[in-house]
Amino acid sequence: MFESFQHYLSYGSTDQQTVRDLSEYFDGLLVPGTIAAFQAEGTKGFVLSLSARSAEPYVIDSRFPLFQNVLQRPKKSHQMLADLLGVPSLVSQFIAPDPASFTDSMIEQISSNWIDFNVGFETVQTKTFDKYAARLGEPVLPENRQDPLFILPPYTMVGNSADNWEGVSQRLWEASQSYAKLRGVDDKLRRVIAAGSASEWDRLASLTVERQIIAWISNLDEFKLSSEAELVQYGESLKSSTNRGQQVFALYGGFFSVLLSRYGLTGSSHGIGFGEHRDWVELPTSGAPPARYYVPRLHRYVGVDIATTIWRQFPDLVSCDCSECNNGSPSNLDYHSLMRHSVRARNKEISEWLEMPSAEVSNLLERDYIAFRSAAQSLSAPTAVARKVEESCGHLSMWSRVIKVLG
Ligand SMILES: [Zn+2]
Repeated sequence: MFESFQHYLSYGSTDQQTVRDLSEYFDGLLVPGTIAAFQAEGTKGFVLSLSARSAEPYVIDSRFPLFQNVLQRPKKSHQMLADLLGVPSLVSQFIAPDPASFTDSMIEQISSNWIDFNVGFETVQTKTFDKYAARLGEPVLPENRQDPLFILPPYTMVGNSADNWEGVSQRLWEASQSYAKLRGVDDKLRRVIAAGSASEWDRLASLTVERQIIAWISNLDEFKLSSEAELVQYGESLKSSTNRGQQVFALYGGFFSVLLSRYGLTGSSHGIGFGEHRDWVELPTSGAPPARYYVPRLHRYVGVDIATTIWRQFPDLVSCDCSECNNGSPSNLDYHSLMRHSVRARNKEISEWLEMPSAEVSNLLERDYIAFRSAAQSLSAPTAVARKVEESCGHLSMWSRVIKVLG
């Protein structure tokens, strides 16, 4: 996760086929704790057989900020994760969770249970392993299965220095360190720093002595034009981390995170078919993604109908030469092809953009912005569709400015 540039996929159980088919197009898997807890055997069978085939690394994210929300209608996976952590009352249905209610014994229980879960993750029933190994279509030896690459202790989302969650996060980290030492796995811990803003993240990162850290800035939407100042701040924070000798991997990131590698980001993870940011308040409602087409030159998903309309009139803007698309209409792709295309597209983006000089990045983004905007203006389509196309490209110009500012 800390060698440039590591492309991780956030695993969802609907993605098994995509992940199985495309292992050479990404570097590792990020397994959400909710899925690992809820569909434990199936997830293990899948992840472990894959790790045995191609030494595919994986880590499990506790998704702990989930429990900072009131969970009015908790899902089974929420309750099972809380049970796994040994504190069923983490699922708070009626009152807002309070940092002051985290006693030392709760913190210790959560931390030790999570580490035990990670250490024991490679224990799987032979029957389950064999079932998933068979689907890989090639012989896979169970003894080649891997432990999680790192253990990411539970952490909280810190909105600001006054909200009292910072202390909970710090105590979870310290309790995890102590317990990991007892179990002889302390060298495997990597700290997640989650914050409500880039400047808050920068402050927290500057307080830790850890050299390899994982970042999550809540609800940082790469595409929203109002994110411009925040993206600049994110880039500046990464530069500061790099100057301190820290390496940073992003828990959530889209194409813009690939561009951030020039300021020190060593990798990022994205859901297959998802927009690639996450607001911690939305964690409880995550589900399978809708079928949309990832437009490589926009570096974002749009509705298949919109992509098809552009493709008919301006094929150069939308065409993709990957083996799913073959430069054909986006409407030809079924659900899994749409998903596979998106992973291939990200892989290609990384190889094409990672080493590109910043001035060229800026110019290309601006060029593509102008191309889409003028296409929107001459598109023969209902006004609403043309407006959607125009609205779908503004971020390119914004990113171009951000990269120019960051240099
Ligand atoms: Zn494609």
